[in-house]
Amino acid sequence: MHELRKDILLGRWVAVMSESKAPSEYNLLSYKTQEERNCILCPGREYETPPEITSVRMPRSSKWWVRALPSLNPVFQIEGDLGRKGVGIYDKMNSIGANEILIESPEHTVRPEDLGIEQMIRVITLYRERIADLEKDSRFRYILIYKDSGVDAGEIFSHPLSFLMATPMIPKTVKDELDNAKQYFTYKERCIFCDIISEELRAGERVILETKNFVAFCPYAAQFPFESWIIPKRHCCAFNEITYEEIEDMGLILMSVLKKLRIIFRDPPFNYYIHTAPNMIPRRDHWHTLGEDFHWHLEIMPRLIRTSGFEWGSGFYILPTSPENAAKYLREVG
Ligand SMILES: [Zn+2]
Ligand SMILES: [Zn+2]
Ligand SMILES: [Zn+2]
Repeated sequence: MHELRKDILLGRWVAVMSESKAPSEYNLLSYKTQEERNCILCPGREYETPPEITSVRMPRSSKWWVRALPSLNPVFQIEGDLGRKGVGIYDKMNSIGANEILIESPEHTVRPEDLGIEQMIRVITLYRERIADLEKDSRFRYILIYKDSGVDAGEIFSHPLSFLMATPMIPKTVKDELDNAKQYFTYKERCIFCDIISEELRAGERVILETKNFVAFCPYAAQFPFESWIIPKRHCCAFNEITYEEIEDMGLILMSVLKKLRIIFRDPPFNYYIHTAPNMIPRRDHWHTLGEDFHWHLEIMPRLIRTSGFEWGSGFYILPTSPENAAKYLREVG
């Protein structure tokens, strides 16, 4: 089994694979994604994939709209116990968790922003259902849904899909957000995200798009140029409490922001991920203010620049385009 190790200095976890790659196995230059003719995620090759976890089928047909599968190369495995251990001064545990592939369309070449609203509703509903299902397992502390689009964004399959990762700990990036939101709430008794929403709507200059239920904006101190957040106006800490009306609205605003990025940058590589509340079942008492202090959101990171030693060494990011100008470009297209 793979192993999870904790960085004693920074408190972040890493997964160490049980079979180590040799230096010659790293393809530094010629990393390619799977091509359409070799794609086992396309319809007709279902027997070649691991048995599906769930799917949504077309009425009176064996054809599917969306499918969830276990990952082909899982980092985490679902069976077993956590086996927390100390090794000298260090901490480790078994790589217990879940990795799933959420296939977003039977069509190999469709872009997420071109799925159409009905299909997008199925996709977001699948996200919600997979999170709700995995949260029943109290070994899992966090469930992350993310998308890699383009080779430079870590894409492995060119078929439209997202990934799900259920982990036995809260990832450090999320933990930092939760801790800071909690601290802000303790001090001001207000949700930091609700405050950000009202400030962004008041200032207006970083807003890309606003709908009845959501606002899309470039964060004031973004990490990357054209970084865009989509956040529900209704205060809610958990993505899986999204309503049907909000799902539709989220689908529209997400497709619209992705389309704008595509028009400006002609198909840029990007990642997006949903930051939602951790699984509250295992430690209910610890999270008693979570319902008030955290607010789920989706972050889109276009991969327009390469990070250098400056960013790696300092955690300090340079924005060649200001969030105000990025929002202006995004508002003006599409
Ligand atoms: Zn395919
Ligand atoms: Zn809020
Ligand atoms: Zn976040």
